[in-house]
Formats: sequence, structure tokens, C-alpha cells
Amino acid sequence: MLNETLLIDDLAMLSSAQMLGRKTGTVGSYKAKSFIQSRFKKIGLAHFPEYSEFLQKFPYPKDFSDNQGFNIVGWLKGTHYEQKYIVVTAHYDHLGAKGSHIYYGADDNASGVAALLAVAAKVSELGLAHSVIFLATDAEEKGLYGAKAFIKNIPVNKNAILLNINLDMLGEGGRRNRLYASFSRGDEQLAEFVKNVADTAGLCLISGHRKSQNFRQFEKKINWRKASDHAVFSNIDIPYIFLGGGVHKRYHTSKDNFENINQKFYVTAAETAWLILQAADSYQ
Ligand SMILES: [Zn+2]
Repeated sequence: MLNETLLIDDLAMLSSAQMLGRKTGTVGSYKAKSFIQSRFKKIGLAHFPEYSEFLQKFPYPKDFSDNQGFNIVGWLKGTHYEQKYIVVTAHYDHLGAKGSHIYYGADDNASGVAALLAVAAKVSELGLAHSVIFLATDAEEKGLYGAKAFIKNIPVNKNAILLNINLDMLGEGGRRNRLYASFSRGDEQLAEFVKNVADTAGLCLISGHRKSQNFRQFEKKINWRKASDHAVFSNIDIPYIFLGGGVHKRYHTSKDNFENINQKFYVTAAETAWLILQAADSYQ
């Protein structure tokens, strides 16, 4: 299915010490940005006219002043529904470093970005019926600012966006070694195809919306609907599917590093993201 070697290499690169934890506005973040840009180019993604070199520069508030963030946005034209878009998102920013203490953010969220790249390569190779936008967001950790900036200046008609698939933390699987999919409430068709993917995926993919039985025990810890960039899409009524392993003991610590990634789980999780996108391609 996906190119596993490249997937792991991209994850290793994005979570390496030279990226310094990818905190928005830092040298490490700029390195990550350049790396993702070069991968977008290599994969053959197109850029929107307003976002040359795939960059969407945006201001976000921090310490009572304006700071700059950079989203990386590319897309691939659909073979049948050129004017309808699925948006795949993953945030590339993380917490940075304090002195020599680096928050590598391998799971959060180098894992989602590397998966996004692997999926983009697959779409580029095989083509999908719908157009697909690939969006690596910045300043997620600070308040979903990258996703908000994208929505504020969507490069296509808002109504032309069918779905957001958001990837955040695919590399550990938490205590239970599970990948969770949560999605917009009350959308029967979404529920149906997520369930179909769950049934065929080689790991425990729990489908359901926030109030489902399976999620109840986690609700105290995580508000799944608001947990990451998909919340911004959800707020303007764009359906979403959020894929992630959930929080774990290394979450937001310097031990969230490449060595602690469960590679077998991760490859399966990334391939599940690809299965979800393929299923979404038949979503009307
Ligand atoms: Zn995250």
C-alpha cells in the first residue's frame, strides 16, 4: 500500500533533533516547513495561485503581539469531480525546545504529517475522483491558528469542500494501542463508511461520534470534537473525520520521540488514513 520506508524516513526527519521541536516561528519550524515544501514539490502537488511555493503566511496573536505562522498547502486535481474537494490536514508545529531539552513531537504530530505525505504520494500516483487538498498546518498547539487562517481564506468555494480528514497522533496508540476515528455527529453516510473501514482495517479502529459508548470513558480527558484542527472545519459545518491514537503518558513530554514510536502500529494507522480517504472519495 503506502511506501513504508519513506513514511518512516519522513517521520524520523520531522522528529529529528535538527527540527528542534518545530515550535511556530523558530528555526526548527522553518526547517520543517522547507522539508515539507520540498516533499510537496517532489510528490507533484499543485499550489493555489495565492499560495505560491505552497505557503500561506498568516498572523496569529501571541503575548499581545502579532506573530507569523506558515501553513503549507498543496492539492491534486480529481479525475471526475474536479470542483469538489476533500481536505487532508495534519499540524506540523509542536512545542519546541527549552535549552537542550527538545520536545521532539514524533507522535504529536510528525506522525500525522508523514502520513499526509505518504497519502499524497499515493493520490498523486493513482488519482482520485475528487480533488484533494493537502494542508500541513502551523500554530495548532497555540490555538488551531493555522486551520483558522486556512478557513478564513479558503482557496476554493467553501461549499465545494466535502470533508476534512484530520490526522493527529498516529504513532503510539496510547495505552490501549488503538486508533480512534471520530466524526461529525448525525452523519449516517460518514458513520457507515468509517465503520466499513474499521471492519477491514488491521487494528482496532473504533468508529463513532462523541457520544458513542466506546468514547464515554475518554470524554473526561479529551473533547474529541475540539481536540485538533478538524474543530475549525466542524465550526463551519464541514463534515470531518478525525484519526488519532489519543493521549498517552509521553504526550507533550520530551519522550514523545522517534524511538518511542510503535512502527508497526504507525504503518497500519497511516494505511488506515489512506483507506479512509479512498472510502471518502466515494462520499457524495
Ligand atoms: Zn497534536
